[in-house]
Amino acid sequence: MATSSCQYIPTDTQKLGVAAIHGENLTSIFTGKEDVTAVDNVSFDIEENKITAIIGESGSGKSTLLKLIYGLLEPNEGEVRYKGWLVPTRKDKLIPGHDAMKMVSQGFDDLNLYAKVWDNIASQLPNTNLDYKQSRTAEILKKLRIDHLAQHRVADLSGGERQRVAIARALINDPEVLLMDEPFNQVDAAFRDGLQQDIKQIVMETGLTVILVSHDPAEVLAMADALIVMRNGKIVDAGNPKDLYFRPKHHYTAILLAKSNILSPKQALILNIQQEDSVAIHQEWINVKENRNSTFKILDIKFRGFYSEYVLGNKEISLHAIVKTETPLPIGTGVDIDILNFISFPVQL
Ligand code: ADP
Ligand code: MG
Repeated sequence: MATSSCQYIPTDTQKLGVAAIHGENLTSIFTGKEDVTAVDNVSFDIEENKITAIIGESGSGKSTLLKLIYGLLEPNEGEVRYKGWLVPTRKDKLIPGHDAMKMVSQGFDDLNLYAKVWDNIASQLPNTNLDYKQSRTAEILKKLRIDHLAQHRVADLSGGERQRVAIARALINDPEVLLMDEPFNQVDAAFRDGLQQDIKQIVMETGLTVILVSHDPAEVLAMADALIVMRNGKIVDAGNPKDLYFRPKHHYTAILLAKSNILSPKQALILNIQQEDSVAIHQEWINVKENRNSTFKILDIKFRGFYSEYVLGNKEISLHAIVKTETPLPIGTGVDIDILNFISFPVQL
């Protein structure tokens, strides 16, 4: 196996003192009728043995960034390095993709639907050592908890089971980095936690580095060690999930992670918050108390199980608030609004 720290490009010299995966001033433009700058001059560092999630709304450039990291796309500007060495692209390497990395693409393109699970995975190993092929395949099936499905055809499996097969297939040759594009999309919500937990376990046991793309941050908040937030091809925020949740640098991050209420300075003033900048108020930072004389009313109530989401408003603004469901107030009730906390951003809305 070509080692991770290998030099693919003869003129390259290893860059020292940078993170395991290091992107610098990366730009990727798709040319067509109109040029699209999918990734717009981004720089980032991704640590090894961790789970990093690239999050952002649809079309923000997440998949493009993942492909740049793997070497499937040639950047128009900038570079990506793995362990200090340039990641090879099509012009440097016949089969695209860094040898130390494996990518699980969206939609199970790599799986043979009509072959058995066992064969889909074992086929990744050479026939030079059949005992090893047998034992290694059994081992990886077990690790992904799909050993009982070994003799089933992939076509007969659920989305979650297919995703486990795809991951097992990607991991069988011990890559150092696993790249996944929206890996939980096809997995029923009830089975996501289990798969996320298993990926976390594998990272802990093997020191694998995982980079995954998600448009649903809630699903990766508990799983990721680090987040990279993309918007319109740019990285607007990066850091650990808790920091980004409580101290986002961009209102977009607050909306993405906390479904936060974003108010202009003028709107904030209605709640007696005096700020020159826009502010974010997370839904759980709002207390509600019945007051018949208040101008604020409960406009709508969304039942969410152990809590309810109230939509509160007056003529000027409306806010979403999380309220425990114990003593529900009916729609139309006048309420006082108590803001427990807010974040301000020196960013124009
Ligand atoms: P995301 O994964 O966040 O949804 P993408 O990286 O797929 O975003 O796309 C970013 C932007 O680049 C979008 O505007 C998309 O339409 C455009 N784009 C992506 N791939 C191509 C392509 N092969 N050709 C032209 N435009 C593309
Ligand atoms: Mg995508």
